[in-house]
Amino acid sequence: MDEEAAPKRGKNGPKFHCLPHSTQGSARMGTRKKVHTFVRVKPTDDFAHEMIKYGDDNKSIDIHLKKDTRRGVVNNQQTDWSFKLDGVLHNASQDLVYETVAKDVVAQALDGYNGTIMCYGQTGAGKTYTMTGTTENYKHRGILPRALQQVFRMIEERPTHAITVRVSYLEIYNESLFDLLSTLPYVGPSVTPMTIVENPQGVFIKGLSVHLTSQEEDAFSLLFEGETNRIIASHTMNKNSSRSHCIFTIYVEAHSRTLSDEKYITSKINLVDLAGSERLGKSGAIIALGDQKREHIPFRQCKLTHALKDSLGGNCNMVLLTNIYGEAAQLEETLSSLRFASRMKLVTTEPAINEKYDAERMVKNLEKELALLKQELAIHDSLANRTLVNYDPMDEIQIAEINSQVRRYLEGTLDEIDIINLRQIQEVFNQFRVVLSQQEQEVESALRRKYTLIDKNDFAAISAVQKAGLVDVDGHLVGEPDGQGFGLRVTPFSAKPGKKSKSKKTFKEQLSSSARKEGASSPVSGKELDVSTSKTQLTPSSKEGDVKDMTIRERETSSLEPLPSDSPKEELRPPRPSTPPPKPVAFEDFKNERGSEINRIFKENKSILNERRKRASETTQRINTIKREMDVTKEALNFQKSLREKQGEYENKGLMIIDEEEFLLILKLKDLKKQYRTEYQDLRDLRAEIQYCQHLVDQCRHRLLTEFDIWYNESFFIPEDLQVALKPGGSIRPGMVPVSRIMSLGEDAQDKFSQLQQVVLPEGPDSVAFYNAKVKTEQKHNYLKTMMGLQQAHRK
Ligand code: ADP
Ligand code: MG
Repeated sequence: MDEEAAPKRGKNGPKFHCLPHSTQGSARMGTRKKVHTFVRVKPTDDFAHEMIKYGDDNKSIDIHLKKDTRRGVVNNQQTDWSFKLDGVLHNASQDLVYETVAKDVVAQALDGYNGTIMCYGQTGAGKTYTMTGTTENYKHRGILPRALQQVFRMIEERPTHAITVRVSYLEIYNESLFDLLSTLPYVGPSVTPMTIVENPQGVFIKGLSVHLTSQEEDAFSLLFEGETNRIIASHTMNKNSSRSHCIFTIYVEAHSRTLSDEKYITSKINLVDLAGSERLGKSGAIIALGDQKREHIPFRQCKLTHALKDSLGGNCNMVLLTNIYGEAAQLEETLSSLRFASRMKLVTTEPAINEKYDAERMVKNLEKELALLKQELAIHDSLANRTLVNYDPMDEIQIAEINSQVRRYLEGTLDEIDIINLRQIQEVFNQFRVVLSQQEQEVESALRRKYTLIDKNDFAAISAVQKAGLVDVDGHLVGEPDGQGFGLRVTPFSAKPGKKSKSKKTFKEQLSSSARKEGASSPVSGKELDVSTSKTQLTPSSKEGDVKDMTIRERETSSLEPLPSDSPKEELRPPRPSTPPPKPVAFEDFKNERGSEINRIFKENKSILNERRKRASETTQRINTIKREMDVTKEALNFQKSLREKQGEYENKGLMIIDEEEFLLILKLKDLKKQYRTEYQDLRDLRAEIQYCQHLVDQCRHRLLTEFDIWYNESFFIPEDLQVALKPGGSIRPGMVPVSRIMSLGEDAQDKFSQLQQVVLPEGPDSVAFYNAKVKTEQKHNYLKTMMGLQQAHRK
């Protein structure tokens, strides 16, 4: 059975509708358009009235075959067919045909829509007559000249647009391309064969001449030239004209004459006179177009469909006119043509405007706009009594001037920089940046000339420097004990050395346990240096006892026992906010609340550490002084010695006699050496103490942050009811579990609850509370179990 036909039972046996799904087709169309299909019947005195019948609305054709005429025409029982179309043109004038078939398509081309009108049918059925018409008789002119006329008439009606018209005429014979408007006398295929090229703008034929036509007459001339070439070619090359496809194309490009509009539209109208349908066979993409089940249409399979690829279906208006004979003798081929027409009717297209942008025109428009705005600004300036304001981009001299202004401003020799315009303000900021970066570089290079800079994050370099004894564990520069001099870093004398302070006692009391645990005597590595920033610095900073500048980040939980704390309990805290506060803010709260005690200890330890550092620095200074004095004394002694040797030495019973001055110097030197040793010993002790303190401060800081994390999670993330459950346990630290884990527990439980609800609800609403409680208990239980597990794992 035919795929495209569905049985229709009538009095005279089976009858077939060829458009069984037409309503379905239109339902999914939306903005899509169907291919418009028309049938034109060639006038005849021998019209087969009994076999060909038109519907009352003239939009369908019924074909009836007499039994005796079947004679192998079809090998099944079909005798009746019904074809639905967009119109049947019987005994229609060329004028009416144009009005019905082409007028709208051409009109829309002027608005940017591509259009294609194709004549299909058996050889001699009137395709060429319909498309070209008789060239001798104006009245019988076909669609081609009428389309050209309409285009030029519409252009006249649109003075707001600059519209250009171009035409080309292509013949496809035996899969070869011929230019029917070739400027050379038509001699067959050109030396360089034409090729079909596809690009994002569409399909075009490379090598095909396209002729600009400024008026109707020129266009007609080209058309006639093409028709003549067509006839000559069929004779000289012995072509069977029924085998060739001819495509006459009108290219339209419409630019608005309105200056501000850089958009323009292009379109083309393809007027196609197809080869005789008996030659097209059942294959080919034209046929494939009508196949609704076909996903891919093989446009490239033949030259015709390839050349028309962007004009078949897709985004264009498409009309298929099927030319048929009205005689009974041609009914077989007529039936075949009508089948094709009805299939094509199912093809949908999506007409869309081909809108393009004229870049050159756009630039011109913008330039004009810019000039206008500058004029506007000039008017404003003159009204505001501001003269000579330049809005052009600044040149080098102007920029240099602004740079100088900025420098003078920074030096203080210029009080303010006048605002002139936006460009100048931007340049001022720009020059601030320039000056700033120049100064940064200058400072750094000055420092580099004087000092060796070490990256604070470069632990290897730091430990190497430490080993060499250039810096102490605090990063303070020191001198070699017997070297040429001591540290460059000078801290003013303020605290007296020696004597263990009261605060040190507190320090040790508070942290003795953890200190022992972590091993206070262990060597302090470079990591213990205060290296919180990555910037290169001259001397490692000695941070004050404030932890504000500490980076607060997620940390691994520590194995440290929580500190005994007298800080306020949860019940004293204000109600929990809906969204957790930012960590830095919360940290301040924490230091005043639960973390107050540990924060106090931390601060105290920090100040002890700083005090020790200060003392170490003072001792270093004293050592330097002593060393200098020793040097001076040594020199004086040497001078005395040389003086004595010059004057002649005195000996008494083997003892050397020296004068009093020399003697006093020797005594002084001895005393200085003693002092030196004592101070040096002190320095060494201090250094050990600093190392130890530093370690404790680090631990303390770590503790503070860990406790803060715990507190933060408890306060803002762990559900309050879970916290209630946790309280009796005491030893369980919720903060030791990642928050995500806790939240996921909650989700699991929630899922379970939803599931339960579904099971339980049929039992009655009272059961909900019961199961709700059950779920919550389970939730707590699971949570506690997880905590225990984690706690155990952590201890190991
Ligand atoms: P096709 O191009 O389909 O092979 P033609 O257009 O060449 O057929 O038509 C064959 C002949 O029939 C031509 O002489 C043509 O003038 C004539 N003819 C076709 N259709 C009509 C018509 N509607 N009215 C008058 N003559 C027609
Ligand atoms: Mg023809």
